[in-house]
Amino acid sequence: MARNRKRIFWLAVLLSLLLPSAWLGISRADEASPSPIVQQMVEAVSEPALADHILHLQDDPHQPGLDAEGSRHSFSPGLALAAEYIGQHFATAGLTVELDPFVRQGTVMTNVVGTLAGVGPGDDLIYILCAHYDSIANRTPGWDPATDPAPGADDNGSGTAAVLEAARVLGQHHFAHTLRFIAFAGEEQGLWGSAHYAQEARRAGDDIRGVINLDMIGWDSDGDRVIELHVGTDPASEALANRFTTALSTYELDLVPQTFTTDAIGLSDHASFWAQGYPAFLGIEDTEFGGPTADFNPYYHTVGDTFDKLDMAFVTAFTRAAVATLAELAEPLTTDVAIALGGPAMVRVGTILTYTLTYSNVGALIASGVVITDDLPLGLSYQADDSGLPHVEWAPQVHRWEVGELSPGDGDSFVVTTTVGVDLAPGTLLTNTAEIGTASLEGRVDNNSSTLMTVVFWGLYLPLIN
Ligand SMILES: [Zn+2]
Repeated sequence: MARNRKRIFWLAVLLSLLLPSAWLGISRADEASPSPIVQQMVEAVSEPALADHILHLQDDPHQPGLDAEGSRHSFSPGLALAAEYIGQHFATAGLTVELDPFVRQGTVMTNVVGTLAGVGPGDDLIYILCAHYDSIANRTPGWDPATDPAPGADDNGSGTAAVLEAARVLGQHHFAHTLRFIAFAGEEQGLWGSAHYAQEARRAGDDIRGVINLDMIGWDSDGDRVIELHVGTDPASEALANRFTTALSTYELDLVPQTFTTDAIGLSDHASFWAQGYPAFLGIEDTEFGGPTADFNPYYHTVGDTFDKLDMAFVTAFTRAAVATLAELAEPLTTDVAIALGGPAMVRVGTILTYTLTYSNVGALIASGVVITDDLPLGLSYQADDSGLPHVEWAPQVHRWEVGELSPGDGDSFVVTTTVGVDLAPGTLLTNTAEIGTASLEGRVDNNSSTLMTVVFWGLYLPLIN
């Protein structure tokens, strides 16, 4: 027995060494650590998809091929075609699509709103990604808004494409809070669409916790990767922009942010949300409004604002940053399967050893394709289990059970019965590891395995004591 006590002592020492380090490992996972699921969303943002959107938005659909002869001017018929394009993509992304029409100067204009409703408590908190989709080219001499093109690839096909691609990527996931994707009309005439929307939202009591407005995110001719975040002096807006800046480093995105507070510009749709007391900021390329590294897009508001001038890697990084920020703000819901292994600390040779495997889904979403494996230590022979689950001996000593689907909060436990080989030497440490896995993406995986150590002791005369 002394020998066994010694083993238990060393086990206790081992555990005391392991536990604090495991605890420290968890506490180190602060806000700056990338979340695996958000990382996956960031990587899902597609540069070709963004390019395709900009090419379609600047196109005149009445002419053959993808040209840059289109117009999305507020008083041109092209605006309605663009609204249709945006609404269709929101619908394909699985969003609830609403048209938000308003009338200015006798003309009906339409904001296009796509909503990804939050799940569970906190679903009334709203985060918005927006961009205006109208365009103008009045810096081109003699430009006629009724007939001439206004391709608006950078201003603001780029931001609109980002909203569409973010909707596609984020629409494949579930979040605690509500995400809203909005393409605004009538921006170039004085923020008409966003002013209308933000007023209505305030009137309806919408609990908007943050608005990211992207307007011109495709021009970087000097390649310095500088972007501007126009935040203003509202602390909540600044906190929101700080989440964006943090996301850049957390997800290693190649952008260099400059934050503007007292010198922030209000010349885009974020200002409409500021006016209603909602936190918001503008993300924009290096315009050099009040800065020293001039890189203003010379094609701004001209017929030359076309796709070929844009830096698509820059657009992609900008979109990824918006996706990461929104995903973290809205809190992705995931599945999270867990397992715990129970059993005795000591066992005699030649006897029965039973393990209890307790499994559960402690996440918020259904886990599919759930599988449990138990890698039984050498010297033990599997006899039976009472799981009722399909079971196979997957490899020598490795037993595998198919759980299938597991709903949030669901779980069960079962007993695996084994026999302890008579030829095992006393003092042998039987290390058993049970694991659980799922085909669904998990929020955490540190609870997916459980290990138990059992010491074998000599059973020749001890049973006589019983
Ligand atoms: Zn613009």
